[in-house]
Amino acid sequence: MTLELNSRIPAGPLPEKWDRHRFEMKLVNPANKRKHTIIVVGSGLAGAAAAASFSELGYNVRCYCYQDSPRRAHSIAAQGGINAAKNYQNDGDSVRRLFYDTIKGGDFRSREANTWRLAQVSVNIIDQCVAQGVPFAREYGGLLANRSFGGAQVSRTFYARGQTGQQLLLGAYQALEKEIARGGVKMYPRAEMLDLIVVNGRARGIVVRDELTGTVEPHFADTVVLCTGGYSNVFYLSTNAKGCNATAIWRAYKRGAAFANPCYTQIHPTCIPVAGDYQSKLTLMSESLRNDGRVWVPKRREDVGKKPNDIPEADRDYYLERKYPSFGNLSPRDIASRAAKEACDDGRGVGPGGRGVYLDFADAIKRLGVEKIRERYGNLFEMYERITDENPYQVPMRIYPAPHYTMGGLWVDYNLMSNVPGLHVGGEANFSDHGANRLGASALMQGLSDGYFILPATVSDYLGSNKLEPVSADAPEVKAAVADVAERTRKLLSIQGTRTVASFHRELGHIMWEYCGMARSAEGLKKALELIPKLREEFWRDVRIPGAGTELNQTLEHAGRVADFLELGELMCRDALHREESCGGHFRVEHQTADGEALRDDEHFAYVAAWQYAGPSAPPILNKEPLEFESVKLSTRSYK
Ligand SMILES: Cc1cc2nc3c(=O)[nH]c(=O)nc-3n(C[C@H](O)[C@H](O)[C@H](O)COP(=O)(O)OP(=O)(O)OC[C@H]3O[C@@H](n4cnc5c(N)ncnc54)[C@H](O)[C@@H]3O)c2cc1C
Repeated sequence: MTLELNSRIPAGPLPEKWDRHRFEMKLVNPANKRKHTIIVVGSGLAGAAAAASFSELGYNVRCYCYQDSPRRAHSIAAQGGINAAKNYQNDGDSVRRLFYDTIKGGDFRSREANTWRLAQVSVNIIDQCVAQGVPFAREYGGLLANRSFGGAQVSRTFYARGQTGQQLLLGAYQALEKEIARGGVKMYPRAEMLDLIVVNGRARGIVVRDELTGTVEPHFADTVVLCTGGYSNVFYLSTNAKGCNATAIWRAYKRGAAFANPCYTQIHPTCIPVAGDYQSKLTLMSESLRNDGRVWVPKRREDVGKKPNDIPEADRDYYLERKYPSFGNLSPRDIASRAAKEACDDGRGVGPGGRGVYLDFADAIKRLGVEKIRERYGNLFEMYERITDENPYQVPMRIYPAPHYTMGGLWVDYNLMSNVPGLHVGGEANFSDHGANRLGASALMQGLSDGYFILPATVSDYLGSNKLEPVSADAPEVKAAVADVAERTRKLLSIQGTRTVASFHRELGHIMWEYCGMARSAEGLKKALELIPKLREEFWRDVRIPGAGTELNQTLEHAGRVADFLELGELMCRDALHREESCGGHFRVEHQTADGEALRDDEHFAYVAAWQYAGPSAPPILNKEPLEFESVKLSTRSYK
């Protein structure tokens, strides 16, 4: 049986939808708010913002994270900035332009209404964060400064050097801490959600494992909000923090929530290249660097071994400037990544293994001086030098694409509610606003828009519209969910095989990168669909997890996450195989234009693919939400 996917997009003209909807949604009387409990899983930008805002409104909030402090959420790693249509630069920006750039950037595979709302709310986010004291960079006269990010011809990115995520998260964390101190939020650090509790068809709680003691318990609420981040670590090597995982959304999928567009993953063009087989993490060099850095490779293959500073200007191929003169080095990520791969496939890649291109600041240093460059990117340059032992003020950086962000996630309607009533999803964990490719500096915008502005309104509407009876810990659904978690943990620990968890994760990552990475083909995806189930079978037969389940055991935690990645990876390949077109980050080699650009098929694929779990031995069911465009004309995306 397929699902009924109602996106609940409000009627009326695009610019008026959100305001009208806000007026029409139900409110909860202040005296009644304290009678409601909301579970928020995640304390990154989306989760911390949502939890603090719910508590400020008067709800009882329980917030969970697997780190030892909410402040360690992966959002802290975000570097380059956050977009907003403030038009402080008077360079032609507007809500409509940010909306259009985002729709086009996502290759016309996102919902118009959600994307418009994101652009609209973006202006409020900056005011909110400034009021919290977030130290955004300022111009000499005191106004907030902006820089440019890929896929835009205006400067609309607000930033705090190369530490924007850290500063924004400190703002959200302070708001959260204030509410914890007041008693509105109860914080559960080192607590991992391992299942969703669905009673009478509604999400009513979660099953949580205390990482320090191994205790498994149900926690109840009137509604559950998942803000658990993205799943790029399915590739093993990615720019994400090592702990990032898909477990919360994957377990919710297995309890009935549809998973949308799982194959839409973003490969970021500017990361420090892989250095060896034993590496366990990749490091991003922020896209903001492309404001001043120029990307090039040698024109001739025989020059790749030369020192970059010995290659004269005439022998360099500034391929992004050559191929995409309008956007140049600030071409969107999917396009810049594919162009880097193309240059390396052509034998013109630099550095060990020939998998690198140069990002060169020599011109900018000549034009602006070393001090200006240090002021703009100092911490990123220092990070690069510490990792590579090369000084980017003197020699160009070497960069290569790496998995970075996942546009796919749990399907949500306009209210950010999944198809399981009462289960809301925010931030990178949902699929909502970016289509097939996310523009730089738009994830922080979306996470904070969801957390500070959208969820507080839509969750209130849900609570105000539904009568929710208390849930008993003895309900069969609760007992079954707790027993499932306990049994799974017991089973993992009982295998005591010969292979480490990390070795399975690395092998899965190789498969995903090879067959479901920057270039995908039917042949490769079919191969991956054979390899992954075999690897999964071997994992459940031969994984070795030392230690016990009654103490802090990070290998056990990792094993649970890898087990879920071994299932999610298969769904990603299935989704990529069914989507017989190229769009954004999903590049099927069979579907490209004569000059190697992505070739969409709007007639057959202008829809959201929402996959539904059908049990352990049946294939998942594909549901389609058609994408309707009223305001923009579907066109071939061009940055030339
Ligand atoms: C290196 C890097 C740089 C980036 N720079 C930028 C940038 O400059 N601009 C931009 O817009 N975007 C940037 N991004 C993307 C952006 O940082 C993320 O998309 C965003 O921070 C995600 O926020 P989130 O709140 O959705 O999730 P996260 O910050 O990942 O938080 C997830 C939370 O969920 C919790 N959690 C997860 N699973 C469970 C579970 N099972 N049980 C309990 N808790 C759980 C975690 O503990 C954590 O608190 C960058 C990403 C990377 C990797």
